[in-house]
Amino acid sequence: MCPVGAIHPDKPFDFNACMTHNYRDFMGGFEDWVQNIVSSKTVKEYKEKVPSDESISKWQSLSFGAQYKSAYCMAVCPAGEDLIGIYKEHRKEWVEQIVRPQKEKKEPVFVQQGTNAEEHARLNKNKEVRLVDNIIRPQSISGFLTGARITFEAKRAQSVNMTVHLAFTGKEARTATIVIKEGTIEVTDGLKEKADLRIECDSEQWLKIINKEISNFDVLKLLVTRRMRIKGNRKLLRKFQHVFVIKKLSTSIFVSSYCFEDSIRRYTEYSLKKLRKTLLLCLNYTFTLTSAVIFFYQILTFNIHTRLPISLFKT
Ligand code: SF4
Repeated sequence: MCPVGAIHPDKPFDFNACMTHNYRDFMGGFEDWVQNIVSSKTVKEYKEKVPSDESISKWQSLSFGAQYKSAYCMAVCPAGEDLIGIYKEHRKEWVEQIVRPQKEKKEPVFVQQGTNAEEHARLNKNKEVRLVDNIIRPQSISGFLTGARITFEAKRAQSVNMTVHLAFTGKEARTATIVIKEGTIEVTDGLKEKADLRIECDSEQWLKIINKEISNFDVLKLLVTRRMRIKGNRKLLRKFQHVFVIKKLSTSIFVSSYCFEDSIRRYTEYSLKKLRKTLLLCLNYTFTLTSAVIFFYQILTFNIHTRLPISLFKT
């Protein structure tokens, strides 16, 4: 019934899927819409990002108050004394009159790429799938840690097992451990177990990274000035970021971290090469100088030895 499959009999409620679609006209979606307006250079570009029906929907929400996109779970719920009877006695009519119209309604469905919600939405041909960005923008480290549970996408984490230590410094100094195991996530305070990956960062800068308010170059600067450090198996970094539906962030840290690592590696290789060359040159000079000294010494001593008898002979 739910257009994004947020309610499932065997799985926990997918809050992120529900929020992305149903609350599209609320704060997170609204912010995304504003960003689309600001980043569009032409009307054509804006319309490519935001179809007309979505602009109308925003106008309606701004005029009459934020409107839900579906809330079909509530619409079809038969709980309550006045409804349960009809549901039990006339199940077929219930489905035909209440459930089917929602299923067959042609409408856009907002999902994030590569999620269970996208897969589910594509099964219903009456729904037009629209891919949107993550709308959770934490304003504190607590918000980020709570958001990590929400933006965690079990579908992407099926074969991922890792323990990540997070150590935040500065304004919101705090430590936390994230354990990802067979499609589940556990977020706890403090540093627990042995970490496969450790991320240390200034709390304010970390929130800027999460909310995409910082460029790759600035992330690189953080790494160079050691205000952000990534230790452990760096190959896990990509996997760690992939299990959360925060795609632009992933690129930023991943690219910068690897650029940084790559630059350090290249610089070290370059320095070692230079050092080797200098050492060889020094050895060469020392050898030549020593040879020259020995050579001149030999000539000098030879002259002395040869001069003596000549001078004696002359006298
Ligand atoms: S509100 Fe809409 S998206 Fe959320 S669970 Fe209900 S039907 Fe699904």
